[in-house]
Amino acid sequence: MRTNEERSAAQWYARAAHCYVEKHQGCAWCGCSYCVFRSLRPDRVEFSCSVCEFFACYNHETDRYYSSPGQASLADAAPAAVC
Ligand SMILES: [Zn+2]
Repeated sequence: MRTNEERSAAQWYARAAHCYVEKHQGCAWCGCSYCVFRSLRPDRVEFSCSVCEFFACYNHETDRYYSSPGQASLADAAPAAVC
C-alpha cells in the first residue's frame, strides 16, 4: 500500500512530466515555460523548476515517487513572459 504522501508525489510527477512536454519544459507548479529541467539518472528521472524550485522524481528501481513543492512567492516574482 502506498501512503497518501506517495500517491500525491506520483500525481505531481505525472503532472510534471505532462507539463514538461505540453508547455515546452513547463512547470506543473508555477506554470512557467522553458524553466524545467529533466535529468535522466541511471536509477531515476527528475524534473526540477529553476523558477519556483518545484521538484518531482521517480525512481524506477525502487518504484517510488518523490516531490517537493515549489515556492509561490518565487513564481510570482518571475512572470512567465520573462522565463
Ligand atoms: Zn516552477
